[in-house]
Amino acid sequence: MKILVSACLLGENCKYNGTNNKNENVIALEKKHTLIPICPECFAGLPIPRVPSEIKDGKVFSKDGEDLTEAFNDGAEKALYIAEEAGCQIAVLKERSPSCGFGKIYDGSFSGKLINGNGITAHLLYEHGITVLGESQVKKID
Ligand code: SF4
Repeated sequence: MKILVSACLLGENCKYNGTNNKNENVIALEKKHTLIPICPECFAGLPIPRVPSEIKDGKVFSKDGEDLTEAFNDGAEKALYIAEEAGCQIAVLKERSPSCGFGKIYDGSFSGKLINGNGITAHLLYEHGITVLGESQVKKID
């Protein structure tokens, strides 16, 4: 099976602070599946490192107040295109990210508080019928 995966979970240093979220359980999926890495924030043309962003009232703002909604939407569209071209029905995405988080995201106050909601890319993929799982849920995949 082809699985779309947040590149930072595979060890790519594409996270806002220039590091990664390497996860051995996600990497282990490679034994049985073809993993297609994506980083929507990189696809959006945002630099590494970059100022962190959170979602507030449906829009994306960097911590210094820049409205990045359009860039995040652009990155999400590119991720969806790759998912559809590759025929991915499942995505394993980084939990809590304003792009990749699914189910829980930070509340927009940059205080570490979580609320119910989806990152921009995760939501777009979900709307197009792709099953979105976080890295803590990979054991659900055969
Ligand atoms: Fe990882 Fe997604 Fe953030 Fe890129 S946008 S660094 S893939 S969580």
